[in-house]
Amino acid sequence: TLSDRLADTFKNLRGKGRLSEADIDATAREIRVALLEADVALPVVKEFVGAVKERARGVEVSQALNPAQQIIKIVNDELVTILGGETRRLRFAKNPPTVIMLAGLQGSGKTTLAAKLALWLKEQGSSPLLVAADLQRPNAVNQLQVNGERAGVKVYAPEPGNGVGDPVAVARGGVEEARRTLHDVVIVDTAGRLGVDAEMMQQARDIRDAVTPDEVLFVVDAMIGQDAVNTAQAFLDGVGYDGVVLTKLDGDARGGAALSVASITGKPVMFASAGEKLTDFDLFHPDRMAGRILDMGDMLTLIEQAEKTFDQEQAAKAAAKLTGQGGDFTLTDFMEQMQQIRKMGSLSKIMGMLPGMGQFRDQLDNFDEREIDRIQAIIQSMTPAERENPKIIDGSRRQRISKGSGTQVSDVNTLVDRFFEARKMMMSMAKGGGIPGMPGMPG
Ligand code: GDP
Ligand code: MG
Repeated sequence: TLSDRLADTFKNLRGKGRLSEADIDATAREIRVALLEADVALPVVKEFVGAVKERARGVEVSQALNPAQQIIKIVNDELVTILGGETRRLRFAKNPPTVIMLAGLQGSGKTTLAAKLALWLKEQGSSPLLVAADLQRPNAVNQLQVNGERAGVKVYAPEPGNGVGDPVAVARGGVEEARRTLHDVVIVDTAGRLGVDAEMMQQARDIRDAVTPDEVLFVVDAMIGQDAVNTAQAFLDGVGYDGVVLTKLDGDARGGAALSVASITGKPVMFASAGEKLTDFDLFHPDRMAGRILDMGDMLTLIEQAEKTFDQEQAAKAAAKLTGQGGDFTLTDFMEQMQQIRKMGSLSKIMGMLPGMGQFRDQLDNFDEREIDRIQAIIQSMTPAERENPKIIDGSRRQRISKGSGTQVSDVNTLVDRFFEARKMMMSMAKGGGIPGMPGMPG
């Protein structure tokens, strides 16, 4: 698996510092192979590996994670971001019915999916209506009716024996029927061809224009691998859509299609279908798919645990001090936290996590990194005794400290004043029943 390979790459690398260019190149090679094995399209692989390399260059080897774990975390975060971040939910119309239109190649799984989605919505308390607007294949209407019956969902279909029907009229009629009979969701099944074709696109566009869907979902067979990219692009240009549904994930597909399609189109994958049974269907979870693509699920669990432990140790220490169990909160602690912040990156986010700092978030967002350097320099110019008990720092010491740290006396004064203010506030918050949201504290 990728995690094994990366662990091999980094077996001699531990501790502090940055990853070397050679390490990063070796890593990039492993990731490239893993993605190609997962059937991700080549342009997507290139872009992805480039992005990971970029991020790996900026990263300090942390104490919580070893280099392999760190890179895997970067790769995973990047994957999850491309795959849509959080699971994207359906948008329901303010004025029902919500109209969902399905588009995709023939055999991609639209008709099956229509029934799965209907059942899923029904179980969530909706009252969906299925609309059979695929009049291309002789058996298509009947297939939807059979599936609808199995799902226990009503199907709107053209009257039989009326000659060749008009799918646009059927779609429109279905939405009207839903409005009349108080169905709150309409799922419009449409026709596909084996390949992308102009007439089919035109028909899908006409249906779209007739029913103005709240969501157009592009349905794609995950097993078509690399081809998924071209098809996805053709439907994006031809019909347009808001989200993607992957089907046949129960096949041996590693999920490369998911990454390719999401990356090329920028559209979120919303649902995943993994079997022929109506219940083989769920919301798409980007994090799970990321694990599947790179075959690194176990590693991710380990990483999460390592990070959690690390954060919790820090937070528990600070919390204990604030409640008077671990001695006073001192400038030494303050500096340790600063260093922690620096290491962990996003300044304002982490500062917001420090006790009592949340309310300074606005200022923190504009916080100058150099300010931290100044603060560190000042604290480092103090004696250990002064750091433990800043009260003993008198005027002449303040001058010495400012000289030693290359700052102004006013900077030293400001730091000491701010520290006392912050500590006072933290102590009173700690006494007043804890700091909400802070691990290790009653909240
Ligand atoms: P449509 O032409 O887009 O409407 O596709 P269908 O819904 O008719 O599906 C085509 C074939 O794929 C059918 O035989 C389905 O049973 C099968 N199928 C659909 N979804 C899945 C899936 O998630 N897993 C598997 N294994 N088969 C599926
Ligand atoms: Mg169909």
